[in-house]
Amino acid sequence: MPDAGSARSNRWCTTTSLRKGDRVSWIDDPAFSAAGPFGPQTLPYGAGRVRAESATGVLVRVGDHALPLRPLAAHLGPRLSEPLAAGSLDPLLAAGRPVWAELRERLRELVDRDSAPPGADLVPLVEVRPVLPFAVADYVDFYSSRHHAENVGRIFRPDSDPLLPNWTHLPVGYHGRAGTVVASGTPVRRPRGQRKPPDSPAPVFGPSERLDIEAEVGFVCGGPVRGEVRTSELADHVLGVALVNDWSARDIQAWEYQPLGPFLGKSFATSLAHWITPLDALEAARVAPPPAPHPLLDYLAEDEPWGLDLRLEVRWNGTVVSRPPFASMAWSPAQQLAHLTVNGATVRPGDLFASGTVSGPGRDQRGSFLELSWGGREPVTLDDGSARAFLLDGDDVEITATAPGPGGSVVGLAEVAGRVLPADAAPGVRGSGR
Ligand code: MN
Repeated sequence: MPDAGSARSNRWCTTTSLRKGDRVSWIDDPAFSAAGPFGPQTLPYGAGRVRAESATGVLVRVGDHALPLRPLAAHLGPRLSEPLAAGSLDPLLAAGRPVWAELRERLRELVDRDSAPPGADLVPLVEVRPVLPFAVADYVDFYSSRHHAENVGRIFRPDSDPLLPNWTHLPVGYHGRAGTVVASGTPVRRPRGQRKPPDSPAPVFGPSERLDIEAEVGFVCGGPVRGEVRTSELADHVLGVALVNDWSARDIQAWEYQPLGPFLGKSFATSLAHWITPLDALEAARVAPPPAPHPLLDYLAEDEPWGLDLRLEVRWNGTVVSRPPFASMAWSPAQQLAHLTVNGATVRPGDLFASGTVSGPGRDQRGSFLELSWGGREPVTLDDGSARAFLLDGDDVEITATAPGPGGSVVGLAEVAGRVLPADAAPGVRGSGR
């Protein structure tokens, strides 16, 4: 290890209050980049293969490195050995909140040591092959940004109220397709489908001409299988948070979505980030959602609100085109989970629910290209001078986010990225990423 120079000590002081004086831990090495948004204040979970190993395992991210946890399982404690010996996060999700809390505590102690414990091997992320970190059970997508809902209402239904009457009374959502949730980096083939051009008397079939993104925040569920989860019980059923891109074919969607909602315009692919930022890392990011315009029914009330000050960035072929603020969402994840289980429907390990497109009030805060280009009428100019309304084949989209962390630190949400393949690309390049 290099000497504990003052530059590094100062670096810690600016990023986290978790350090003890000027002491330097074994991860406090510039090579590990552990002072950034993925330092000890964050410690996100993932799964993947490292170096030439053939088996996937549970990983924790430390800076721009991954720490495989299987070799450390014995060191971390008997309750953790089984979840950490697994090839994915599935057993950890099932283990529930007491085990999640113990693991995070042990990991915080581990990264705070003066020297690396036996078996610790920080692997550069470029040598990691991450996979979809858990088997997605049920997938639900909400629609909880008032700005997004109003924008879409104005674009799709210009002659009626942008918000339907139920919107301010309940978190509107729908059941999505869990089987096509794919890991970040998985290419997304342009879907074919039925759509009806406005000047055509009959529908036509072919590749979507209005392929879009939705910048969203996903909540990864675990713990005991239960219905009727109260808003105060979110943390018992959510391990953490990961960014989602809910790819959307707007032309297919516009033709099919009434009366039962999104279907084939959404179900071809939903991308999920590789790394799950623990809910415990977001305590300093909690905020109250904007006040509802009228009193809410009791089951949706929150004593300690679960709005989150997550600041998203959307990059289109490298150009930052939007910075959606999650703090502006009208419904919190606790309200969403309470609503989705209030009828007795259960939440179970591996369930994933997403926030809905995150859009703020500003033009540069819109979380979909449908809104950014206002239905295609106002193209977006990228840094290379090209203009876009919707996605072209070969386009890349990356969504990232940060949040305020303890002691002035910054907590990171890892990127969700994907590239658009032509509709005639060979099938089979998609898949679960596992
Ligand atoms: Mn969506």
